[in-house]
Amino acid sequence: MRISNYHTHCKFCDGVGEPRAFVEQAIAKGFKHLGFSSHAPLPFETVWNMKESSVESYLDTVQKLKQEFKEDIEIYCGMEIDFFESDNGKLFNKYDLDYVIGSVHFFRTAADETCYGIDGGDDDFRRTLNDYFKGDMRAFVKAYYGRIQDMVRLCKPAVLGHFDIIKKSNRDEKFFSEKEGWYREAVQETLLAVKESGTILEINTGAMIRGFLSVPYPSDWILHECKRLDIPITINSDTHAPENLDGYFDLAFSMAREAGYTEQVILKNGIWQKVNIL
Ligand SMILES: [Zn+2]
Ligand SMILES: [Zn+2]
Repeated sequence: MRISNYHTHCKFCDGVGEPRAFVEQAIAKGFKHLGFSSHAPLPFETVWNMKESSVESYLDTVQKLKQEFKEDIEIYCGMEIDFFESDNGKLFNKYDLDYVIGSVHFFRTAADETCYGIDGGDDDFRRTLNDYFKGDMRAFVKAYYGRIQDMVRLCKPAVLGHFDIIKKSNRDEKFFSEKEGWYREAVQETLLAVKESGTILEINTGAMIRGFLSVPYPSDWILHECKRLDIPITINSDTHAPENLDGYFDLAFSMAREAGYTEQVILKNGIWQKVNIL
């Protein structure tokens, strides 16, 4: 089953390892398809995004690997693009890419140039909650899922990155309970927007690989809702190192099957298409 991964961070952003090392590992693991998804440059610098000055080299490097390894594996060049305010949809079409993963990692207003992180660890999360949302967890959750809805409607990325990353710092439900009605409502509303946009939702094992969580994105009950709505899924590791390309894939595949999925969608021959996962 370990045939593909499209959420891959190498040395061009905050990952480690040459792109070539990822390709070699992917082939060794029996992958038939691999997509690179470096964090796209933003109009301001962060520690995780690729620099604008590196884009040409990134595109060129992946293009050359595509050619070099075409007998062994299909390689695709994508980017993970941040949606951080309602008018930045133009970033999504800026580069000539095979696909885009759209993600929300932070809040930022035009007046205040600070990035208020969602997935930067507990201190970062707490600062966003207290300074940006004045301690109102519901407002934080609603704003997060609102951004996701705006992003899929406006930008229509091929893949939606880590649907419920807002839970990354919520171990032991220290900030909110996913069982609460208001949380479930925000999720349901967002899933309807995802369904309508045709965006693929990923099962993302990245936070497990890095030891933050013991479950993937999205939570199991959300995946069941996805199935009920017939939202297409793809299984990604969001890896930042070659050796983790298929980290926790066994669990992700069995979770998908238990939710009732018989197929995932992968980029194959240049087209996102369904393949069997049974
Ligand atoms: Zn991300
Ligand atoms: Zn990522």
